Amino acid sequence: MASEESCLEVVVFTPLPQRFSYRCALPLPLPGCRVRVPFGRGERVAIVVAAAPCPQDVAVKNVTAILDSAPLLPASLIQLLQFGSDYYHYPLGAVWAAALPTRLCQGHPVPLLEPQAWRWRADVALPTQGLGPRQRALAQRLCAGVIESSSLDSADRQRLRQFQAAGWVEPATKVTSLLHPGPQLEGEQAAAVAALRQARGFQAFLLDGVTGSGKTEVYLQAMEEHIANGRQVLFLVPEIGLVEQTRRRCAARFGAQRVAIYHSGQGDGERLRVWTQAREGEISILLGTRSALFVPLASPGLLVIDEEHDPSYKQQSGWLYSARDLALRRAQLERVPIVLGSATPALESLHNRATGRFTDLRLRQRATAHTPPRIEILPLRRKRLLTGLDPDLLQAAATQLAAGQQVLFFLNRRGYAPALLCRECGHIPHCRRCSAALTWHRRLGRLRCHHCGWESNVPEHCRQCGATEIHGIGVGTEGLEQLLRERFPDIPLLRVDRDEVHSSRQLAERLRAIQNTRPAILLGTQMLSKGHHFPDVTLVGIVDVDQGLYSADFRASERLAQTVIQVAGRAGRGDAPGRVLLQSYLPEHPLLQELQSGDYGKAAERLLQERQAAGLPPFKAIALLQAEAQQMERVQAFLQAARQHLRDLTCTGPLPALLERRAGFYRAYLWLESDSRVQLHRALASAREQIASLPAARRVRWGIDVDPQNF
Ligand code: ADP
Ligand code: ZN
Repeated sequence: MASEESCLEVVVFTPLPQRFSYRCALPLPLPGCRVRVPFGRGERVAIVVAAAPCPQDVAVKNVTAILDSAPLLPASLIQLLQFGSDYYHYPLGAVWAAALPTRLCQGHPVPLLEPQAWRWRADVALPTQGLGPRQRALAQRLCAGVIESSSLDSADRQRLRQFQAAGWVEPATKVTSLLHPGPQLEGEQAAAVAALRQARGFQAFLLDGVTGSGKTEVYLQAMEEHIANGRQVLFLVPEIGLVEQTRRRCAARFGAQRVAIYHSGQGDGERLRVWTQAREGEISILLGTRSALFVPLASPGLLVIDEEHDPSYKQQSGWLYSARDLALRRAQLERVPIVLGSATPALESLHNRATGRFTDLRLRQRATAHTPPRIEILPLRRKRLLTGLDPDLLQAAATQLAAGQQVLFFLNRRGYAPALLCRECGHIPHCRRCSAALTWHRRLGRLRCHHCGWESNVPEHCRQCGATEIHGIGVGTEGLEQLLRERFPDIPLLRVDRDEVHSSRQLAERLRAIQNTRPAILLGTQMLSKGHHFPDVTLVGIVDVDQGLYSADFRASERLAQTVIQVAGRAGRGDAPGRVLLQSYLPEHPLLQELQSGDYGKAAERLLQERQAAGLPPFKAIALLQAEAQQMERVQAFLQAARQHLRDLTCTGPLPALLERRAGFYRAYLWLESDSRVQLHRALASAREQIASLPAARRVRWGIDVDPQNF
């Protein structure tokens, strides 16, 4: 008699590359189910990857328990995770761990929820024979539209169960009518919605629309049809701080019960509940940040990626995936349309549009009648600045404030001053663990490292020469706040940065306060500039852009262009026209000249040409082999040894990271490039194991970063 046992290959939720084999009684759980297995001295929850013949040469232990009767994720998402593991060269088990709610990784059961509504599957024909009259009647109703289980009597529910067992029906979301219809659209907005509604199956759209052009309105109206048909929408935003305003707009249109949010700021229990609701089709819109991309949907209809250019879509530790790029793959696997929206699309996305991978949707005008802001450059050379501000900028601010308007200052640097300097000997206190100067937080009386969090007191004497003449150099938001309070003592000032605002609720409170205060000064970092609307702001001062003009990071100029256009877009959405003043020591720089015309597209086009000439992405496929260790020699030795296994690629380095030492670790990388993405991946896949088995690999922390955003 055949043995009643076979083997399973599983992965555990850690960055171990191997699959492990266990014996299991038949019937075997399907891939995507969880099992409990003996592991080392204890037990682990693991994910079934495949059934396999039992290895003959080793003793194989038995699975302790089967935790799921059906896979946790649909086949499309299981494939997506496998793809994400292959593409980013990161172990599958750790990919699953990043994609699932924590509770599920711990082995908790999936809460039970019955689907509340059903529809006939589009790919199943209505059987011509074998159905009784009542069965036929129900089948016809299901073909015509979505039916809620609660509307059926018990006999029909029984019939529905038979259809379900036959695989003829699928869960749908409950159909609710719109709470409020949106405005009647015309012109480019109407055309964009029409194109999105016509899409069948996978198609990628780039919605390139200036700030305030009504992109969100386009998403909402494109979503209507899917939701009316019982399908779901996955809506990603780059940061937690942007979730609430988008949720409010979705809820106002579709009803608060139809929308759920999912992000890392939630508790584990709540995340699991939302995950289950989305999987069972109880909600129509799942709105969230990066990690929401992996939430299963009963009936996906459309993916929306807002602010698609935002670097926050790239995960910065562990599994270094780009949620935007994986979203495209998800849409492909689920055969649904996807729309990427931005006022400042990533150069990669513009390239994809140029080569026809993305369908072009444009919104060139603001939705309301307001004129776009005027951008002007304030040359700083040979000027006497006040705490980093040009007196002309202060004067312009004074005028606006006197007229009862709001003024916004943008400075992407926290603290009182970015460094302390001894006037006697030139000594600058540095972090002991990072290659970076310590930021002076004057109100706290601390020096703080912005890279590792290390802190110390502010010294009264220079630690090098003992002199007492110690001064801050440069300016951060705290320093700017002090200056502006002295200058404008009667004007309310709201500062928004990570030192002042610690949660998305606090951010929402501040933003609400800002809406109702006039005149007012708003001051902040990226946190303030991303995606929020300030209709009463009539003047924007961008304090420092020059770093972005000569950085060693090849993406810096793209980021600078995006930041300037995005910050500028915050101004003048209300009745008063906006003005943007940009301080720079390099006023003739071609990028600034282009930005002055407000034309991101033109600037982006030239930046793309520069990338092409320099052989940089998106014209080359690149990856980094990164390593860090407490001794630089170990990093060097590892990267040199690894180089030998990467001969199929153009390989540069070892190069020091931009921040050469962080939290006590020296950091360097090999820059790997190829004309062909396929070749890059083939070479990395074949070298990966050899690199992992290098003796030098055990003395460093190392990893592969594909399509890197930071260096
Ligand atoms: P974006 O997402 O491109 O920044 P929004 O969708 O937020 O733009 O639209 C900006 C403002 O214009 C919002 O207050 C929105 O309600 C309004 N709006 C958008 N489309 C229209 C329209 N067709 N008619 C009237 N107002 C609109
Ligand atoms: Zn540090």
